[in-house]
Amino acid sequence: MACYLHDVISRRAPAADKVFIENHDGAKITYGDLAAGSARMANVLKSLGVRPGDRVAVQVEKSPEALILYLACVRAGAVFLPLNTAYTPAEIEYFLGDAEPWVFVCDPAQKARLDPVAAKCGVAHVETLGVRRDGSFMDQVAAASPDFEDVERGPDDLAAILYTSGTTGRSKGAMLSHDNLASNALTLVDYWRFTEKDVLIHALPIYHTHGLFVATNVLLLAGGSMFFLPKLDADAIMRLMPRATCMMGVPTFYTRLLQHPGLTPEATKHMRLFISGSAPLLAETHREWRAKTGHAILERYGMTETNMNTSNPYDGDRVAGTVGFPLPGVSARISDPETGAPTPRGEIGMIEVKGPNVFKGYWQMPEKTAAEFQPDGFFITGDLGKIDERGYVHIVGRGKDLVISGGFNVYPKEVEDEIDAMPGVIESAVIGVPHADFGEGVTAVVVKDKASGLDEKAVIAALTERLAKFKQPKRVIFVDDLPRNTMGKVQKNVLRDTYAKLYSA
Ligand code: AMP
Repeated sequence: MACYLHDVISRRAPAADKVFIENHDGAKITYGDLAAGSARMANVLKSLGVRPGDRVAVQVEKSPEALILYLACVRAGAVFLPLNTAYTPAEIEYFLGDAEPWVFVCDPAQKARLDPVAAKCGVAHVETLGVRRDGSFMDQVAAASPDFEDVERGPDDLAAILYTSGTTGRSKGAMLSHDNLASNALTLVDYWRFTEKDVLIHALPIYHTHGLFVATNVLLLAGGSMFFLPKLDADAIMRLMPRATCMMGVPTFYTRLLQHPGLTPEATKHMRLFISGSAPLLAETHREWRAKTGHAILERYGMTETNMNTSNPYDGDRVAGTVGFPLPGVSARISDPETGAPTPRGEIGMIEVKGPNVFKGYWQMPEKTAAEFQPDGFFITGDLGKIDERGYVHIVGRGKDLVISGGFNVYPKEVEDEIDAMPGVIESAVIGVPHADFGEGVTAVVVKDKASGLDEKAVIAALTERLAKFKQPKRVIFVDDLPRNTMGKVQKNVLRDTYAKLYSA
């Protein structure tokens, strides 16, 4: 039966004995294992009562099985909903309540903590999947049939919902269709020249679009292989390079590897491509990398809602500090953020994009969706930038005061709300401050009651149970007043300037 995305993938599958994933623990998953494993899992999902369009929420540690589960959901006609492993039960409650999944798959060690949350949200089944092929879900998978007739799904049906946050602090579920994912991956395979010979170093998380869709779908459609590492580990990456051909990373990967004594032209000789995205790569990092290895990092630009939009060229100049050209089939333009009117070439404004890569809207938020699209179908990205004379897109800043730390988005409002709720706090402003390792360090500027004894340590300690680690401030600074403009808005740009050297002093 026609299951659009899986058909695109399986039509291009290489021989069944070709390795798809070599895991860090030595386990090898072939393309044949992938086909049989995803069929078994799809059978289990079906036996749990999953129907076409049902959401399957997943918060598990990175493993080949966690990735196979993505494909199983696609084949079963379900909507895959991966969740950041750092999210606390309080945060998970929001996602389960909003997405109303039929099944929630979590880490075996977290089940006791998450069961009450899932019950409160009316989730029908909670299953577990661990990193050693363990858990209640895997027990059922072992007993399931390796044959499955795919559920019929068309190009516009949903394949996944990925949550991204809004400046209001509420996360929004970006609805991605089968064709959003398939079309973008097919474009990237060609644009970046991926083939069956490619072996990708995969050290990204697989709950985010970068490690999940960009990396995985591209390698799947090319029939290539991946080395799976649980997280960024510079020594392990250096050891794998002689057996790999490419790597996709966030800028932190490159700044960390630049500190590795083993990074030389010889060590990177077997590699053909280094790709960076998810956050701005400093032009300085690009230059240093080239000087140390002879490779020009290829920077690209995308977002959860749109998949990949632009990329520096494979052949031709990979210009440091730019994100390259709109991908084939993708239109990008710059508009006046106030009026929405097109701006002359070279002028800074709001980046807008249109193409088969652009999502179907925010889950159960029709008004929010409508507000972020122009009448002619262009999506308003929220990123500010310009297109230069040669057609290269430059990103100059984020319209929404988003902080990107280690490649992860941190929305200040969410952190501010937590801090403001603490006894003794009057108000707070959370900003991103340049940080050599993380790109930006989450920084909280807090106004407290004169009588309060609250200090930096106490604020950070109070947040550990409330927020994922990557959202927690690295520093908390106390001030008498926050700077404000005449309209009463907090001037975050002033704060950023004031504390610009906080992490470099
Ligand atoms: P996410 O939805 O987590 O993928 O985050 C998307 C946001 O990351 C974009 O809207 C941009 O603000 C930022 N981003 C992604 N790639 C780049 C890049 N190469 N340079 C600068 N910002 C980027």
